Amino acid sequence: MVATGAKRKWLVDSAVQPEDRKRMTGKTVIIGLDGVPYAMIKDFAASGVMPNTARLIDGGFFSPMCSSIPEVSSVAWSSMITGKNPAEHGIFGFMELHANSYRMRFPNYSDLKAAPFWETCEGKSVIINVPSTYPVRPANGVLISGFVSIDFNKSVYPPALIPTLKEFDYRLDVDAAKAHKSMDLFLEDVEQTLQAMIRAARWLWDYCDWRTYMLVFTGTDRLMHFLYDAYEDAAHPHHAAFVNHFRTIDTVVGEIAGRLGDNDRLIMHSDHGFERLDYDVFVNHALTQNGFLNFKPGLESTFENICPGTKAFALDPARIHLNYRDKYPCGTVDPSEAETILRDLEALFAALEIDGRKVIRNIHRKHDVYSGPYIDDAPDLLLIADRGFNLKGKAASDRLYTKGIFTGKHTYDTAFLLAKGCDTSRLPGPPTVSDIVRLFT
Ligand SMILES: [Zn+2]
Repeated sequence: MVATGAKRKWLVDSAVQPEDRKRMTGKTVIIGLDGVPYAMIKDFAASGVMPNTARLIDGGFFSPMCSSIPEVSSVAWSSMITGKNPAEHGIFGFMELHANSYRMRFPNYSDLKAAPFWETCEGKSVIINVPSTYPVRPANGVLISGFVSIDFNKSVYPPALIPTLKEFDYRLDVDAAKAHKSMDLFLEDVEQTLQAMIRAARWLWDYCDWRTYMLVFTGTDRLMHFLYDAYEDAAHPHHAAFVNHFRTIDTVVGEIAGRLGDNDRLIMHSDHGFERLDYDVFVNHALTQNGFLNFKPGLESTFENICPGTKAFALDPARIHLNYRDKYPCGTVDPSEAETILRDLEALFAALEIDGRKVIRNIHRKHDVYSGPYIDDAPDLLLIADRGFNLKGKAASDRLYTKGIFTGKHTYDTAFLLAKGCDTSRLPGPPTVSDIVRLFT
């Protein structure tokens, strides 16, 4: 990054062997790009939009990567920072139900049941804008929460940093509501949020003698939800703004790479991928239409008004829970019936088509994809959408599918991992988001 203080001295002990030295003295920088797919990074690196990233790709490990299941940021980042799966860290989605209830709650950092790497690794850390780290708790170094953060005063540790961040006009997230008013207003907000974060990130580089520095860009995800079509279409009025966002991020990548020594590690990665959105598909509509889900007549069709006799319901995006009688107030499913219901559900979703296209690519049972002490909280069935379909867990809708303002949607298997100076033989196979910590802890 641009020098804002004394240039960091990279300590090298000449008495130790090169391999040990790497492990013992190297620092780690992690640059997160929320939602950015492997193919987009490859494209921008090859076309000259991201020349600094291209240089890292040339000399480093660059691979597609799988996200968490489901492929939403709260679960994916919780998996990344803990190196665990949802049944170990306890975060299964952006929303959850209270115990023995259909009442919704929104899990946050306090619900994370495994330690993030900065609480167990050696040395100080500077951690900026990692999603699902609100409200902050004390850390050895700096921790600034990413979305969903509500109160600035609970998003910054140490709190003494708050006035400085405010001077930088630091924002906890892009104001996505602006996109519903005007795309120009939205883009202006995305740019201002990015520039403020860069100002803060540059300043924090020299704030303490850190061993791990992590900076997550989340405007990328917001841009792709609203303007994925602008990426694909060079004639789109917002194409240049979309591309320039990545150009700016690449200059930060270049500044950081230029300040690292030979023994340091630089990791860039996304938490999930993205692709063009054709249709939002309402999983609970399919369940209702096929007799698995019923709501109490005469009342609003919300989760709290689920009717006895309901066999299954889906939480966002496609986490299907059986309505077990010992788990939910109106639960009627006996464990002995579970296998039959699961098979019926698998048959229903395997056959689901829209415009002659298969909607669901993969159907997983919880024990196939999760293991750990919180497995009982996990959904019983998890759906992964096929290309172009975005699964939604809205309680009720009057149709199976629709097309809203978004033009892009998350993908499970097209995230990316780029690593320089890391021992990638520590990855257990094709990487997933929960493997990244193996590269630096
Ligand atoms: Zn997103």
